[in-house]
Amino acid sequence: MRLTEELRKRAAELKELDRLKSAFLANMSHELRTPLNSILGFTDVMLEGLDGKLTEYMDTDLRLIQKNGQHLLHLINDVLDMAKIESGRMNLHAEMFKVHTVLDEVVGITSALASEKNLALFIEEDSDRNVEIYADSTRIRQVLINLVNNAIKFTEKGRISVCVKPMEGARVLVTVKDTGLGIPADHLEAIFQEFTQVDSSTTRKAGGTGLGLPISRRLVEMHGGRLWAESSGVDGEGSAFHVELPVEARITDVVERQEK
Ligand code: ADP
Repeated sequence: MRLTEELRKRAAELKELDRLKSAFLANMSHELRTPLNSILGFTDVMLEGLDGKLTEYMDTDLRLIQKNGQHLLHLINDVLDMAKIESGRMNLHAEMFKVHTVLDEVVGITSALASEKNLALFIEEDSDRNVEIYADSTRIRQVLINLVNNAIKFTEKGRISVCVKPMEGARVLVTVKDTGLGIPADHLEAIFQEFTQVDSSTTRKAGGTGLGLPISRRLVEMHGGRLWAESSGVDGEGSAFHVELPVEARITDVVERQEK
């Protein structure tokens, strides 16, 4: 009995340590962002020529500072999100909204990136225009932006389409499909683990943190939903990412219902 009691105590201690680690990370990430924003801000000022004319070398170097600074900011934001989720400090704010409106916004935000690569990006014809859900629209938008950005990143030719459909049992299914390089069967689950990438060389080329999908899955699960990937693994046949959400989210962490 003494041993059981000791084990129980030890487990509680470990859990508390884990929570403290996540809380520490959340605080650190916040502290890291402040000076970085200043670095990025002044880089912009110089690039706009507000501090005087730049030589070609200065311009090239500042653009490198800008690009790497933005990458670092992205990393910090992802680490912050993950730490918030793990320490139970990611508060979701649910409201009623039309999924279609969010799809429109997501396409609007990501379309520049798609046209840079000459990819068609669109909402499918038979996507439901009226279906409404009760969820955190900002976080659902974040998940979908991440999925569409990935689709663009891992597709060289063809198209990316998004679609929402009502399902049985008061649920909706949002799908993001691409015609990219696909995902081998043995990676379809692994990519949802932190810092896991199918091929680090392509990803290094494409940029990324390896945290986007794990964060997205956690956010969807906090709504009582599921996120998974399907792919034949054949280059050109692409992948499909499915987000299934309850029409009325049962949010599993601290939730604030917004008064209308
Ligand atoms: P990141 O994209 O920042 O590396 P993610 O967690 O978003 O991190 O994705 C993890 C990995 O999953 C990617 O590195 C890539 O190997 C794979 N992946 C994600 N989306 C796609 C996609 N649409 N097509 C092919 N591979 C993908």
